[in-house]
Amino acid sequence: MVSLGLEDKVILVTGGNRGIGKAIVDLLIELGAKVAYIDVATDNGNPQSLGIKADVTDPASMETAAQEIQAKLGTVYGVVANAGITRDNFFAKLEPADWDAVINVNLKGVAYSIKPFIQGMYDSKAGSIVAISSISGDRGNKGQTNYSATKAGVIGMMKSLALEGARFGVRANAIAPGFINTEMTQKIPDKVRDKITAEIPCGRFGEPQDIAWAVAYLLSPVASAYVSGELLRVNGAHHT
Ligand code: NDP
Repeated sequence: MVSLGLEDKVILVTGGNRGIGKAIVDLLIELGAKVAYIDVATDNGNPQSLGIKADVTDPASMETAAQEIQAKLGTVYGVVANAGITRDNFFAKLEPADWDAVINVNLKGVAYSIKPFIQGMYDSKAGSIVAISSISGDRGNKGQTNYSATKAGVIGMMKSLALEGARFGVRANAIAPGFINTEMTQKIPDKVRDKITAEIPCGRFGEPQDIAWAVAYLLSPVASAYVSGELLRVNGAHHT
C-alpha cells in the first residue's frame, strides 16, 4: 500500500467554496490532509474543511486568515492558489476596470495568498505551492487578453518561487487546466461551447476532479518531490 504522503499536512485552498477549488478541498480531505479554504462565501458543504471568509486581493485580510489557519490547524505545508475571475471582452473593448479586477484577483491575489506562509515553509524546510494558471495563459485566447496576461504571469511567478524555495525544500508549480465544467465556463454561449468541444481531442470539457488529482500529485512530497518550476497542462490533449 502506498500513500501520497498528504496525511495530516495542513493545506490552504483559495476559492475553495465551489468549482475546481471545492473539488480540490474534497480530494485533499479524502487523502487525509487538514484543509482550510478561503473564499468570499464559506458554505462548501464539506464539514471537515475549515472555511474562512477573506479576500485574496486584500493582503491584510490574508494575513489575518493565515493567523487563524495556523492557530487552528498548525504550520501550513501547502498553498493552492486557485481563486480566479474572468472579465472577458475583446482587447479594443476592455476597460481599465476589467484589467484591474482581473490583475488584482488572478495575479496579486496569488502572491498575497502565498506570502503569509512562505517564511513558515522555509523554516520547516518543507512546502509545496500550486497555482492554478490556465490554457489561456499558456497559448492565449480570444477575448481574454487581461485574463491570459495574469495566467501567464503566475507561471513566471511559480518558476521564480521554485528557484528561491529550492534550498529550503519548498517547491512551486503551476497547472494549466483546459476548459473545465464549472460556473466560470457556464457563461460560455452554447455555440462557442460546441466549437470549443469540437477542438478538444478527448471530446469533452474536463471535470473539476481532473484538476484536483493534478493538484494532489504536485502537493505530494512522495509523488513529485523532484518536480518544481513546472507547468502541468491538464486539458484532454487540447494543446494547440
Ligand atoms: P469559479 O468561478 O467556479 O470559482 C472561483 C471561486 O473563487 C469562487 O468561489 C469565487 O467566489 C472565488 N473568488 C473569486 N474572487 C475571490 C477573491 N477575491 N477572494 C477569495 N475568493 C475569490 O471558478 P473555477 O472553479 O472554474 O476556477 C478556479 C480556477 O481555475 C481559477 O483561477 C480559474 O481562472 C482557473 N481555470 C478555470 C478553468 C475553467 O474552465 N473553469 C480553466 C482554466 C483555469 P465568488 O465568485 O462567489 O465571489
